Amino acid sequence: MKLMIEGVAFDNITLDEAVAAGAELVRSEGFHYVVTPNPEFVLRAKQDPDFRRVLNGADLTIPDGIGVIYAAKILGRPLKERVPGIDFASGVMAALNGSGGARVYLLGAKPGVAEQAMANLSARYPNLTFCGCHDGYFQEDAPVVEAVRAARPDLLLVCLGAPRQELWMAAHGPETSAHLAVGLGGALDVYAGVAERAPERWQKLGLEWLYRLKKEPWRLRRMAKLPLLLVSAAGSRLTGRRDG
Ligand code: UDP
Repeated sequence: MKLMIEGVAFDNITLDEAVAAGAELVRSEGFHYVVTPNPEFVLRAKQDPDFRRVLNGADLTIPDGIGVIYAAKILGRPLKERVPGIDFASGVMAALNGSGGARVYLLGAKPGVAEQAMANLSARYPNLTFCGCHDGYFQEDAPVVEAVRAARPDLLLVCLGAPRQELWMAAHGPETSAHLAVGLGGALDVYAGVAERAPERWQKLGLEWLYRLKKEPWRLRRMAKLPLLLVSAAGSRLTGRRDG
């Protein structure tokens, strides 16, 4: 079931349900894509109809950000739980690793990072075939689409930052021949060991964003806007807007 949070339709699912749905999409015919919106995405989608359309056209929209969970609560339509995109991707890869394997392509991050992520993930999921990777600082799409297509992935992780990764998946995903593409922001940096995730205690307290801010203080300007989502959700609740 989808729940509308300030114009973006989220799937109301747990991490386990999202992983099961994701693994099934990888095994399905045709192209599908998953988006992992946090509050920044939702605020941007309010101003950018193309981005909103792409988010709402996804096969699965998982709430990646404690701010989305709070906004849902304020709106009186609580979501089951926060589903971090990287946990979703790891869960899907673990499921595929345990059920016959799959071909995986990594797209994004600075040169060298995807290679390192590929080496680490190959060791973690020995039954998966990491069939190729490409950095995220390309100018022309066509050669990259061709490189992905030639590698014949089942699963494609697209880590170009938002909104580029979502627009890229919607525009080019079907040409890649992948069955499932997932937009994952900085996940390759984490898989490569270039960036560190918050310790579990911080994650459990819903403070992953604060840990990230501590490590990357330049994010403050971006994050400072996030309470606006809660203000906007409160406004929608008070005025009874249905699309809020
Ligand atoms: N990135 C990229 N191409 C670009 C811009 C960014 O591949 O043109 C990568 C960047 O190196 C990083 C990821 O996209 O690995 C975005 O990370 P960020 O943490 O900003 O994304 P978030 O998770 O906050 O959406």
